[in-house]
Amino acid sequence: MKKFDVAIAGAGLIGGSIAFELARAGLRVGLFDRQEPGKESSWAGAGILSPAPESAAMIPLVPLAKASMAIYPEFVRAVEEISGQSAGFRPKGTLQAIFSRDAREELSTVIALHHGLGLKAEPLSAADARELEPSISEDLEAGVLRPEEASVDNRALTQAVLAAARQSGVEFFAGSGAEAVCREGGRCIGLQLQNERIEAQWTVIAAGCFSASIRGAATYAPVSPAKGQMVSLRSDDLKIERVLWSEKIYLVPRNDGRILAGATVEYTGFERALTAGGLEKILSGAIELAPGLAGARVEETWAGLRPDSPDHLPILGATDVDGLLVATGHFRGGILLAPITARLVREWVTLQHVSVDWERFSPMRFQAATAHGAPA
Ligand SMILES: Cc1cc2nc3c(=O)[nH]c(=O)nc-3n(C[C@H](O)[C@H](O)[C@H](O)COP(=O)(O)OP(=O)(O)OC[C@H]3O[C@@H](n4cnc5c(N)ncnc54)[C@H](O)[C@@H]3O)c2cc1C
Repeated sequence: MKKFDVAIAGAGLIGGSIAFELARAGLRVGLFDRQEPGKESSWAGAGILSPAPESAAMIPLVPLAKASMAIYPEFVRAVEEISGQSAGFRPKGTLQAIFSRDAREELSTVIALHHGLGLKAEPLSAADARELEPSISEDLEAGVLRPEEASVDNRALTQAVLAAARQSGVEFFAGSGAEAVCREGGRCIGLQLQNERIEAQWTVIAAGCFSASIRGAATYAPVSPAKGQMVSLRSDDLKIERVLWSEKIYLVPRNDGRILAGATVEYTGFERALTAGGLEKILSGAIELAPGLAGARVEETWAGLRPDSPDHLPILGATDVDGLLVATGHFRGGILLAPITARLVREWVTLQHVSVDWERFSPMRFQAATAHGAPA
């Protein structure tokens, strides 16, 4: 029987980052994926690194997101150095475009919200915003510059993290999906694969939106898929420096000249069909934001499945089963939250306490809700 200090189910950016961090701390780590690693949500994402909340429900996530943003440059540096691969990190800030007639009111609300949460945000006149990003539509009324935000090429980063993990001694098992969590009394003793049992002192569930299908994990990781459709564009005569947001969509420039446009949020199960309505929403929003994109070539379209949780917040940390940890449910922020997730799991495994308050994200919160009769 294979034995590890830590067995991780799921080799996306989250499982890969945890494996990398634990191997660097000297632990023997086995990383298990049911297919080729790094080809699910971590491949499909846009790679925006923004701790700003997208809705009021996401405000509790801001401190964790800020903590992850603060360690991102160092995380990228270590991954690039050990893997020898670039992660396409662009610490150039992001710009929110405001088109509404009540732009002045919206601008002061957005700025006050950001400052209240300790996030840097600068109000811009339409002229100043268009000077920074000339491709934005002339209909622009105002803008908000968030200078500390960034983006990363998540496909490149995920491959680099997996390579860095391998170089640091992590043992990979592709095509080895976890079927169940193995328990002995109140303790988790590893993972059950299709034809094999893996023994581990610690077991981490990091299988993205598929985590709930691992027997014994669903009560702690009741995640479901939230589909997002994306389009990659290329234009010879239009350049975008920063991530651009409008009310409808975002545009993410890559170092190789592509401009990613996204994304929809759809609850349609595990299917990943591209739809006429989804692509229309993205493309019309993109052209409204940057009219010059009307002439851009469509290079690629795809859809991916985000791991969403019942309250849309990540599910992180220890369960009431000794040795069983969960790291999933990162929903729209898993690329941003990978470094802090890896650090927290490493602290838990090696120190049994963590440096950031993660009670709010405990896998036990759904059990409490069920026990009180609330929907799980
Ligand atoms: C369209 C889109 C846009 C996004 N944009 C952003 C963004 O701009 N910024 C941001 O921060 N986040 C973004 N996200 C979210 C981010 O991509 C995810 O939160 C993150 O990738 C989740 O990583 P993960 O490793 O948990 O999951 P995944 O990348 O899905 O990896 C899970 C892995 O588990 C494996 N697996 C499944 N079942 C099993 C099993 N039984 N046993 C073993 N392995 C298993 C899978 O094969 C997969 O490799 C976006 C997502 C999408 C889809």
